[in-house]
Amino acid sequence: MDERLKSLLGMDREEISALVIEAGQPGYRAKQIMDAVYRQRVESLEEISTLPQAFREKLAASGVAVGGARIERKFESVDGTVRYLIRFGDGQSVESVWMPDGDGGEAGDGSEAGVEADGIGEATSGAKAPVNFFAIGGAAGSRALSKQSRRSSSSGRSTICISSQVGCAVDCQFCLTALLGVKRNLTAGEIVGQVCAVLKDQGVSPPEDRINLVFMGMGEPFLNYENFIKASRLLVEGVGIAERRMTVSTAGIVPRIRDFGEETIRPKLAISLNASNDALRTRVMPVNKKWTLEMLMAAAREFPLRTREWITFEYVLLGGVNDDPENAREVAELLRGLRCKVNLIALNPGPGIDFVTPDAERVAAFQEILRGAGIPAFVRRPRGRDIYAACGQLKRTVEDATLPELPIPSIFPAPQE
Ligand code: SAH
Repeated sequence: MDERLKSLLGMDREEISALVIEAGQPGYRAKQIMDAVYRQRVESLEEISTLPQAFREKLAASGVAVGGARIERKFESVDGTVRYLIRFGDGQSVESVWMPDGDGGEAGDGSEAGVEADGIGEATSGAKAPVNFFAIGGAAGSRALSKQSRRSSSSGRSTICISSQVGCAVDCQFCLTALLGVKRNLTAGEIVGQVCAVLKDQGVSPPEDRINLVFMGMGEPFLNYENFIKASRLLVEGVGIAERRMTVSTAGIVPRIRDFGEETIRPKLAISLNASNDALRTRVMPVNKKWTLEMLMAAAREFPLRTREWITFEYVLLGGVNDDPENAREVAELLRGLRCKVNLIALNPGPGIDFVTPDAERVAAFQEILRGAGIPAFVRRPRGRDIYAACGQLKRTVEDATLPELPIPSIFPAPQE
């Protein structure tokens, strides 16, 4: 039997209750185990001090372990972002990213899940708002940001970005993870385990600390649907992260978008649009051959949104490829009438990626066209580009020997005082 199946991490209340009953223990032990695993985030049975020693030994003897994920390496960016290499029992690893607050209220920086407090109201009046560009870098800036990140650990709106698969099968032409191919799906325990490991390392705890979560790391969550859904439930019921603080991003696996709409507990939905017409989208995201823009947009239009919920569309801007004003007008047309917002992401570069990052004026012009059409549009500040932690740069540190040093491109002008 696969030893990962015996991990407490990844089991829900019912599964843990079954273990407890099987061992002839009183029912309340299930809550003690749930608390220990998901709230205290223990790493071994010995640490579950609320359980009698004999029960712990019995669990261990029957092959039960806490399981989960171990942080193997950590890389900290000048902007305070931390990229974690996280390893599992079978030696496979993924990356998870911690993005501390540090921007004074920018929406669309990866904190989509928490924008109800600062987002859409701002977004609708967005045409008047200052453009969301930020400069990162310089030793002084780095010190200031890391101080700020420590402070915000307890008070801010930090975001954890987690992976759903080892590698990815979707083959988006601008994404480094695609170059790995897909090695395997993560279990629900491994998905939740990333969150537990990062929370523990950062010394923060939801719901007291406001933590947003995005399923936007390595992998396509909707191609590991069951485990992703189970993990979402455990994150809500076990770890204590509210549904509205979680966002899942999909490359557009249409049947799963429809299933997702039926879930009783679910994160918010983000869709990687990335192109304004079928020919272009098929070129940059071959998945579009199977699920065309028409199918994707139909699923988006029929998606049962909750009160005050909206769909986020991500649009990676590839210089000279999909960043023309005409593309922006096509996007506005595609999204007309949809309760949505757009996050524009200027390409994060990487070796083997044959696209260029557009310049800031072009990004701003694209944003303005969308806003002019009444669509809330934000420019995402790149996070942790210098340590390959930004969108589309996750490739697993073990292979870092092959990654050239990456200066933060200075496409972002200093914020206006
Ligand atoms: N598989 C999911 C989630 C992971 S990708 C999906 O495709 O949505 C998370 C986001 O990063 C997606 O919107 C993707 O389009 C974007 N992305 C991928 N590579 C990128 C790159 N090189 N630069 C900027 N964004 C990128």
